Formats: sequence, structure tokens, C-alpha cells
Amino acid sequence: MLAGHYAPALAIKALFPRTPLWILFAGVQAIDIAWGVFVLTGIESAHIEPGFTASNGLVLEQVVFSHSLLASLAWSVGLGLLVQLLLQRPAVSVATGLAVASHWFLDLPMHMADLPYSNNFSPKFGFGLWQYRELSFLLEAGLLVLGGWLWSRGGGVNVSRARRGVLAGVLGVLCVAGYYGPQPTDIAVTALLGLFIYFGLPALARWVERPQGT
Ligand SMILES: [Zn+2]
Repeated sequence: MLAGHYAPALAIKALFPRTPLWILFAGVQAIDIAWGVFVLTGIESAHIEPGFTASNGLVLEQVVFSHSLLASLAWSVGLGLLVQLLLQRPAVSVATGLAVASHWFLDLPMHMADLPYSNNFSPKFGFGLWQYRELSFLLEAGLLVLGGWLWSRGGGVNVSRARRGVLAGVLGVLCVAGYYGPQPTDIAVTALLGLFIYFGLPALARWVERPQGT
């Protein structure tokens, strides 16, 4: 799942309107940021096998440190505490922890059973919805529409129509491209492209929330 991960960020922003959206956008992909870095440095391993599922060719071999359930929970608590240490704002810390935790629970329905409980020999989870491309796409798009709707009535109520439109456009393109666009066949390119998106989206969120006229 790519674009759909931003849906919980938008929903959490509606619940915690004083949390900067860019922190939530970084939080919901923190686990994939770790994955990108770990794959590029050889700490974790994955490869692309075109046609592995109808949606993409991503085969995760060892993702214990980024995508195991226990690691995901540790990232959530750890990053929540880090934000508390840096900003001293409990609500922002809780919102960040929730955003980080949301990642695993959205990967769970989509992935094949490649998300381990703890180490690589522990039970692995994943309901395999990626085997059905149209269904996966509709679910992800639906989540984004729901998240965007909550955000537009909650945390995003003061954002101009134009900026909302830009954000919706970027997320929409990302959602369609994730399923119907060209996909890299090299895992390093996949990881790098992912990191580019995972850092680009928080930058976009910062711009969306910047006071008008700046
Ligand atoms: Zn992931």
C-alpha cells in the first residue's frame, strides 16, 4: 500500500487538529522509510518478481526490523516518545504514535503473508488483497476519500480550496500510479523511489498548512 497510508494521517489530523500534518505524513510511512533504508543497506532483503501479485511484484524476504508486528509497535512507541522529547506536546506524541502504528495494520490486508510477528521464523501475516488489483485499488482510493473528507471537516478546515485540490491531486495520482503505472523491476530503484515519495509528501503537507500568502 502506498497512497492509502496517508488516509489515517488525514483522519488523525481531524482528531488532533493541532498536530502538524507533515509529522503525521512522515509518521504513517516511518516503517516504509526504515524499510527503504534497510533494503538499500542490506539489513533487510526483498526482490521484485513481476506478477507475484496482480498489483505489484514486491516479494519481501526478511523485513523483521521494519515490518514485524513487534518492531512496528516499537517504532510507534519509540517515535512517539522521541516527538515528546523534542516538542513536549503529549497530544502530538500520541498522534504520531498512532500514525506510525497505522502502517502495519493497513499493510496487513494487502500483503501476502510476509509480515512476521517477531523474527523471520515466527508466524507471518497478510491477507493477500493485492491478488485482486481492482479491489485493492478501490479500497485504497476509498480510504483516501474517507480520510480526506474527515480532514476537510476537521484539521484541514482552514486550508484553501486550491491547496486542498493540490493535495487531493497528488494523492490521487499516487494512488492510480501505484496500481496502474509502470513499476520498477529493481528493488533498489523501488526503495529509492519510495524514499523520494516518503520525504516529498511531508514537504507537500508543510506547504499545504503554511499560512496563506507565504
Ligand atoms: Zn509497509
